[in-house]
Amino acid sequence: MEEIKIQSVCPYCGKVIEAKIITKDNSVYEIKTCPEHGDIKERIYDLKMFNEKILPHLKKLHEFKETEDIPECPYGCIGCKKHRTQTVLGIMEITNRCNLKCSYCFANSDATGYLYEPPYEKCIEMVDKLREQNPPCPAILISGGEPTLRDELIDLIKYCRSKDMMVIIATNGYKIAGSLEYAKKLQEAGVSVIYLSFDGVSDKSNKEKKNHLIIEKIFENCRKAGNLNTVLVPTAIRGINDDEAFDIIKLASQNLDIVRGVNFQPISFCGRMDDSEREAQRYTISDLIKDISKQSEGQIQESDFYPVPVILPLTEFFQAYTKEKQVAFSVHPMCGSATYLFKDENGILIPMPRFLNVNKFTKILEDYAKKLQGSTNITRPILIASLIKEVAGTIDFSKKPKNLELIKLLGSLFLNNGDMRDLTTFHENTLFVGTMHFMDQYNADMERLKYCAIHYVTPDLDIIPFCAYQNFGYRQKVENKWKQDIPKKE
Ligand code: SF4
Ligand code: SF4
Repeated sequence: MEEIKIQSVCPYCGKVIEAKIITKDNSVYEIKTCPEHGDIKERIYDLKMFNEKILPHLKKLHEFKETEDIPECPYGCIGCKKHRTQTVLGIMEITNRCNLKCSYCFANSDATGYLYEPPYEKCIEMVDKLREQNPPCPAILISGGEPTLRDELIDLIKYCRSKDMMVIIATNGYKIAGSLEYAKKLQEAGVSVIYLSFDGVSDKSNKEKKNHLIIEKIFENCRKAGNLNTVLVPTAIRGINDDEAFDIIKLASQNLDIVRGVNFQPISFCGRMDDSEREAQRYTISDLIKDISKQSEGQIQESDFYPVPVILPLTEFFQAYTKEKQVAFSVHPMCGSATYLFKDENGILIPMPRFLNVNKFTKILEDYAKKLQGSTNITRPILIASLIKEVAGTIDFSKKPKNLELIKLLGSLFLNNGDMRDLTTFHENTLFVGTMHFMDQYNADMERLKYCAIHYVTPDLDIIPFCAYQNFGYRQKVENKWKQDIPKKE
């Protein structure tokens, strides 16, 4: 692989500097030199996985880059008109209060000494701001702190639903475990997904949060409330829970009536760390995928994972099909990877790429997106019929789980314009396993940032890419402006 030039920052002074992506000893590294703080080297990916899965997508990004203006990343996000990906998921933080007091958390009100809680009317404006995007942001993650501590959460969910948004709540699950009535209120308000922070199945991986001890109660109340869709969200840390990745997937797969997915988030670093300390603790997407493969004894393999932009042809296809602009999850391939697992009639988890040729499938969709552009109402049904026939040729029926009617599923998917929310049979036997590695200043890559699709909306109604908000001073500025004194306890 030829070295790739990117822009990054010095983790010690924040200066924007040139960096290179290079390979060495079966790994891919980001290297950079700050004139003041010297050399920095960061391991970012496994070489084999990078060559096979990431490079083909990177090449496409680079073709696109040639035609674009150069934005001022990462310090020019406010009012920036050059960002390359629309808001696919908007994030609204509604409080920094929390019902836990984990010693490692620097964000909650007890640790910061102030309260951050945008007023309700402001939250409504923030939601409206997300819907004003073109195309409108389809989904919102309401987070905190612990958002269930805020009484107005239920009304906010209702408001977002009235705006036709998918609503995801990021929570530690304590309030749901403690009150079936509250879980029912969430359901009645129309919450779409409970995004449950869940770091592992043992005491070792749950030193302080300990929601593994109440997970069954959380599941029970989600069920009793009317099957609240849940996604488990582990922060993956080397030496803490990296040995439990497959245990978490197994737990999810035993609760497929309510658990829709597991979304691992390898930890990103803050604060000053030297190279050897970081190398010992760094846990990349490829490290996680290798661990899942090893722990599952090959039931899930490295080759089963694909970078997120693999789904772009699906968006292009539906854009051509509906003739309406669709939000595209066109994030940088280094940001995330995922696979789908199907539970067959014997309870075995079978990754989708074992029976669906993903590359052929996406190529067919790309071709049909072009064909559909010149189609008429008369030629379209013929095109769709021929598409379904071609897609059938990408399926290995001898390996497909018998309880999965894939052709019927794809037919419904095309008829529903890509909306998979109503495909009950698909969801009942399916588990999404994904990972997103939020960046830090050591592995910062402005190419990744420019394509970020996950955006904070702030009380000042600015839209800021997630990794910029966390790493480049935006969070602190917003909180300094909107913070309040913590009310005294009576
Ligand atoms: S990260 Fe996006 S919003 Fe921020 S300056 Fe770069 S292109 Fe603009
Ligand atoms: S949040 Fe960070 S890791 Fe995720 S898409 Fe945006 S830039 Fe990439």
